[in-house]
Amino acid sequence: MATILDGKIVAETIQAGLVQEIASCKARTGRVPGLDVIIVGSDPASQAYVKSKEKLAQKLGLRSSLIELPASATDSELLATITRLNDDPQTDAILVQLPLPAGLDTWRALDAIAPGKDVDCFNPVSQGMILLNRSAIFPCTPAGILRILDHYSLDIAGLNAAVIGRSFIVGKPMSLMLSNRHATVTLCHSKARDLERVLRQADIIVAAIGKPGFVTPAMVKPGAILIDVGINHVADGALIESFHYEPWRTSFAKKGFALVGDIHPGAFNASSYYTPVPGGVGALTPTMLMVNTLELFKQRLHA
Ligand code: NDP
Repeated sequence: MATILDGKIVAETIQAGLVQEIASCKARTGRVPGLDVIIVGSDPASQAYVKSKEKLAQKLGLRSSLIELPASATDSELLATITRLNDDPQTDAILVQLPLPAGLDTWRALDAIAPGKDVDCFNPVSQGMILLNRSAIFPCTPAGILRILDHYSLDIAGLNAAVIGRSFIVGKPMSLMLSNRHATVTLCHSKARDLERVLRQADIIVAAIGKPGFVTPAMVKPGAILIDVGINHVADGALIESFHYEPWRTSFAKKGFALVGDIHPGAFNASSYYTPVPGGVGALTPTMLMVNTLELFKQRLHA
């Protein structure tokens, strides 16, 4: 029978350690690590994300602040805010909430964050450090996935890994991080030919596509480890019913929608381990942001 990789348990374990480490940093240096989040515009999903990040930071004893710019903000105004935070000694970690409103230049903003304060690791320097396996921090979602594997003592050295999705947020850094852990990695995308054959050879699949139930049971090698990054808001009752998965049915019955993963739950039975949605990878991502904030603080203050 497959084992569930429970992201909530892993997150709670990490958070307990963070509370202690943050308190000890405060005792040693007289201050706590600080995370400053910039949000542009009032997109409800982004607003909800940043509020939940702020709440978690407070719960763990970090200082956090939210800087809100109007949707009409210009590239120059956003860059001026980033520059101010780069120069502020109280700021250890800077996050620009993505996506930015249309018309703003995402790369200009990410390029402007000082690498030593780049908590999301989306700056090109940070991504280069991941490539070279020289980085102390990693993008939150793939970093959370490695923490899950570690928590369950899953050694991936020598395994065939297939990562589906090549965004700079998840898939690309994930492929490098798995390679740095000595997996043999295939990075797949929408132009991949014969994806099913690649997936069927994989001992571990990381699905980060954004398509509900995309990875079907027929694509999965028996005994594979399944890591589902996808978070798809599905309000189509017939589609949810087609997955025959109780947690999604229950959510739909209660709320009129379910957050559905990229992996079809029918594949779980044949797997050795799998992350559920929700309660798997997504449960780790905000916690890894706090891990990164602490690490940047320690690097900057040599604490
Ligand atoms: P993007 O939309 O940036 O990238 C999607 C990737 O999937 C692209 O590389 C695309 O290929 C690939 N893709 C799309 N269709 C196919 C296909 N038919 N076959 C193979 N590959 C395909 O997504 P993100 O990486 O930002 O997010 C992916 C999913 O993960 C989303 O559901 C998102 O909500 C979720 N997510 C979850 C997080 C968490 O904490 N759990 C955090 C971040 C994201 P191509 O490059 O060729 O276009």
